[in-house]
Amino acid sequence: MKQILNNLHKLAKDKHNENKKYFDKLKKKQPKNLDYIMQDLHDAEFKRTDCLKCANCCKTTGPLFTLADIERISKHFRQKPQQFIDHYLRIDEDKDYVLQSVPCTFLDNENYCMIYDVRPKACREFPHTDRNKFYQISNLTLKNVEICPAAYNIVEEMKKKLPL
Ligand code: SF4
Ligand code: SF4
Repeated sequence: MKQILNNLHKLAKDKHNENKKYFDKLKKKQPKNLDYIMQDLHDAEFKRTDCLKCANCCKTTGPLFTLADIERISKHFRQKPQQFIDHYLRIDEDKDYVLQSVPCTFLDNENYCMIYDVRPKACREFPHTDRNKFYQISNLTLKNVEICPAAYNIVEEMKKKLPL
C-alpha cells in the first residue's frame, strides 16, 4: 500500500488525459448497465483494499459536512452545533463546511476514525465509485484517483471492462 501511495499522484497524473477522454465518452454514451458494472468493480476492489493501511483520504482531504452531519456529530460530542462548528470547521470557497485542517482531527494514530458511527455522509460514500450514474461525477473522480488507490484501480478496471 505504501508503495502505491507514494506513486499514486504521478500515476494518476500520467493517466489524467486518457481518463478525461474516457469520461467524456462515458457521459455521451451513458451505458445502460453502468450502475451494475460499477457496483461489481467497487465491491471487488474494496474486498482487496485495507483502508486501515491507507487513510489517505482522511490525511490529505477532508469531507464536506452537511447540516445533518453537523447535527449528528455535535450531538455525539454533547455539544451545540455552533460549538462544533467553531471548534472544527470553516466555510470554504464553495460555501461548504469543511475541516479547519487536514489530516482530519478525528483520525487516530492507527488510522481509525474516532467518530466512525456518526461520520459525515461524504466519508461514508467516498470514493463514490458505486454511485448510480457514475458519469455525473467524472470531475470529482478525476481528482479522487489522485488520492485514493482504490478509486485509481477501479477506474483502470472500468476502462478494461467497458471499453468505449
Ligand atoms: S477510501 Fe481510498 S483513500 Fe480512503 S482509505 Fe480507502 S483506499 Fe485509502
Ligand atoms: S471523519 Fe473519520 S472518515 Fe471522515 S475524514 Fe475524518 S477520520 Fe476520515
